[in-house]
Amino acid sequence: MTFKKNQIVELYIDDLGTNGEGIGHIDGYALFVVGALPGERVRVGIMKCKKNYGFARLVEVLESPAEAGRIQPRCEVARQCGGCSLQHMTYEKQLAYKEKKVKDCLERIGGVCFESPVEEDCKSGSTAVENVPQFQNIIGMDEPWYYRNKVQLPVRMGKDGQIVTGFFAGRTHDVIPVDECFLENESFRPVVGTFISIMRDMGIAPYDEKNHTGIVRHIYIRSAHISGDVMACIVVNSDIDGFVEKYGEAIVREMSDKVSTILVNSNTERTNVVLGREMRAIYGDGNLIDNIGDMKYKISPHSFYQVNPVQTEKLYNTALEFAGIRGGEVVWDMYCGIGTISLFLADKVGASGKVIGVEIVEDAIKNAKENARLNGLKNTAFYCGAAEDVVGSREIIEREGEEVMHPDVVVVDPPRKGCDASLLATILKMAPARVVYVSCDPATLARDVKILCEGEGEVAYSVKKVRPVDMFPWSGHVESIALLERVSNRKADAKVHN
Ligand code: SAH
Repeated sequence: MTFKKNQIVELYIDDLGTNGEGIGHIDGYALFVVGALPGERVRVGIMKCKKNYGFARLVEVLESPAEAGRIQPRCEVARQCGGCSLQHMTYEKQLAYKEKKVKDCLERIGGVCFESPVEEDCKSGSTAVENVPQFQNIIGMDEPWYYRNKVQLPVRMGKDGQIVTGFFAGRTHDVIPVDECFLENESFRPVVGTFISIMRDMGIAPYDEKNHTGIVRHIYIRSAHISGDVMACIVVNSDIDGFVEKYGEAIVREMSDKVSTILVNSNTERTNVVLGREMRAIYGDGNLIDNIGDMKYKISPHSFYQVNPVQTEKLYNTALEFAGIRGGEVVWDMYCGIGTISLFLADKVGASGKVIGVEIVEDAIKNAKENARLNGLKNTAFYCGAAEDVVGSREIIEREGEEVMHPDVVVVDPPRKGCDASLLATILKMAPARVVYVSCDPATLARDVKILCEGEGEVAYSVKKVRPVDMFPWSGHVESIALLERVSNRKADAKVHN
């Protein structure tokens, strides 16, 4: 199919892409259209064409049936900002779409069949039905607003000479000024407002990316869900000492009634990365303590932490339920971050069990160890490295004992690219009774599930349950959890070494 740039075409939208774009097909050629919804007939202008797919801009919605679920976005800049790619769709429809997405991926890519192949068996309730994987409803939010516990706002000079904060417009370095955001924690705006007025009063210049001049690059804010404590981190294009000497006192004086800790981070590189390495707390101790369920977590500014605390608790509880812990189990938590899921597991396996966490970021592993101590959990061990390299290494086997290579449960929570093939091969050799896969991308989940279900030698898995969880309302992303059970009886007795 060949189109010319700016050519106007009519299109029926039949799907949604991962980033919430509408997808329509003309003679099998896929066109991605930001802002269009499945079920709609639209007029679009061609922007860019590749061999098998292209991008077009929405010119006009010609027909939008009620089933498409189109609504007026709550936020005026929803389209430009890019943070909320689905604010023009009802929340109910988003949930239905996300559910369908997970199911479709597992069926098409993963070869999972959620229907009973034999009608008869369904009625008689025979074994064929027990083997049918269960697809559970998505866990949505009752109040899907103001859920984010973290924002990183660029600070720049606006066109009218006023300091602005906001979000980078999709794939650009232009800041879209945002004075109100319906996703972030409600305590954040007063902190931003106070800081900007300090900048104005004291003449602190915002960063100028083009000339690499000016001082304040970002204001980064995080909150703890239960205590309501707030951390503010000011990222500056200068050394910390100089900045703190000039402005530290005023910042602490003006802001300390709104936050529990304030940090200054120095980032003098020409880079898109928000945080530099050097950091100093100028008020409070520079960390937040958050609670999820019965566990306490210490979070440093650098560490990964789920952004939606209300849904995180539901996600972890579902992971725990799927793991089927009774007590005394040996469990691996691969891609463990700061040990969030590990500690939930450790609490349940009890003193006679053990949880081993593996994570590639060293700081996160430090946090994980500290968090285990903070919660008085002695049945954990954390190792730093790529899961595919570390699991089964001599060091771990020597320190933890050979039996850790025959665990009862393995939990994985990889980034979007999914698990490394060699890690899946190791899991098949370890042959745990259950694998709990927490995924932020249903396509890679499905790919990996297929590998585990095909198995190796005596060991193979079968999907028992899948449950999507909406961690990011108003965006196209969907998280899901799958429980896989070992279907062959014999545990692999081969030693597992790298
Ligand atoms: N389970 C944690 C973190 C999940 S995010 C939580 O719920 O908070 C995925 C984590 O995988 C990140 O912390 C990332 O640093 C880590 N990671 C990425 N690649 C990895 C690899 N190859 N081996 C181990 N950890 C990895």
